[in-house]
Amino acid sequence: ARAHLEAIERLASLNAFILTTPERALADARRSDERLARGEARPLEGIPVAIKDLFCTAGIQTTAASRILGRFVPPYESTVTANLWRDGAVCLGKTNLDEFAMGSSNTTSAYGHVINPWRRRGDNRDLVPGGSSGGSAAAVAARLCLGATATDTGGSIRQPAAFTGTVGIKPTYGRCSRWGIVAFASSLDQAGPMARTVKDCAILLRSMAGFDPKDSTSADVPVPDFAAAVGQSVRGLRIGVPKEYRLDGLAPEIIALWDQGIAWLREAGCSIHELSLPHTKYALPAYYIIAPAEASSNLARYDGVRFGLRVPADSLDELYEATRGAGFGAEVRRRIMIGTYVLSAGYYDAYYLKAQKVRALIARDFDAAWQEVDAILTPATPTSAFAIGEKQDDPVTMYLNDVFTVTANLAGLPAISVPAGLDSEGLPLGLQVIGRAFDEETVFRVAAALE
Ligand code: GLN
Repeated sequence: ARAHLEAIERLASLNAFILTTPERALADARRSDERLARGEARPLEGIPVAIKDLFCTAGIQTTAASRILGRFVPPYESTVTANLWRDGAVCLGKTNLDEFAMGSSNTTSAYGHVINPWRRRGDNRDLVPGGSSGGSAAAVAARLCLGATATDTGGSIRQPAAFTGTVGIKPTYGRCSRWGIVAFASSLDQAGPMARTVKDCAILLRSMAGFDPKDSTSADVPVPDFAAAVGQSVRGLRIGVPKEYRLDGLAPEIIALWDQGIAWLREAGCSIHELSLPHTKYALPAYYIIAPAEASSNLARYDGVRFGLRVPADSLDELYEATRGAGFGAEVRRRIMIGTYVLSAGYYDAYYLKAQKVRALIARDFDAAWQEVDAILTPATPTSAFAIGEKQDDPVTMYLNDVFTVTANLAGLPAISVPAGLDSEGLPLGLQVIGRAFDEETVFRVAAALE
């Protein structure tokens, strides 16, 4: 724990943490030492982890990287983090993120951008770590923790994992409780781990997951020993390669990476099947209607009365306006406006309802695919990490980052990003493995064969 706290301080320039909790970390570690001395080790005994600052931590400031939460200190603990502490993990602190987890670059945080520890060969510009879980990704990649929690609404675990050469899994919707996680888009949000290896992710997920009566969408299903699947042969598994993911203009390096992954799995004894997921091209537009719609509703609670920031004003309406105007950043305001628009009486049918129908068709595409294959292999992202500021003034280009990842959220399926090589500039690239609902074991098994 001490070595990690020192490393965090040494690399403070990455801005991966919003807050560190050194006293708490050392107290946790001391308790772990005592249990180890008594021979009572728990599954994560003494493992130093970092927590995305979207998870409420009792008695520890939780910001969602937004000014609007001010100095909010939750009186309760999220179920996922409570599960980690129950299993002996050590809390190092809270990691930076895009404001309210909206973004793909970790540049929308009220606490400043996060820097990717990787650099392009011969180019000293700072790169984004991806987002929204950019702080968790940078912290894992720079060895500031052994693992981190993250959340993924449209790719926020997998895209930063791909950009930083780390592993991140978004489990099946319902696998991890959402209780105590600041909500972005409730029907899409899922918590998951980021770590340096597939096995570490499997070990962390086992602790994080589990039924929770406090989340009505939590699934009452057994949590298997995911780590036992890691290293098991993939011989005989049927792997789908969806042709719709071969986008026009996709960088040759990304296609080469994908082909390499296909070749590795074939050599390991998998059979490869070309597949059609015909509604793929509608996933991104559907996501950018549904996610802002749910966000606009979830964010209505930040009114200056109940939590955090309050900008005093003469009337209640002015209080709302002044507080929300001062508290929300530009990207969050954009999402609230889009969401309010697509939910408004005149446009609901044309946008929101249509997007929900498209979502059902996307889920149906996957249902059909599972008749033919056991897992699906795609690239995790269409590019490697980009320079800070590069896509900042063009939100639509930024949204394109999620083109390969949003489908798994819309369909509720587990999906992992695993580092699979470097591009010509020496930056990491990730492959994505998508699996059947609640079949994270196959996802881990295939990912380990690609590692
Ligand atoms: N980049 C996507 C967005 O901005 C996904 C974010 C996420 O998964 N939390 O909405």
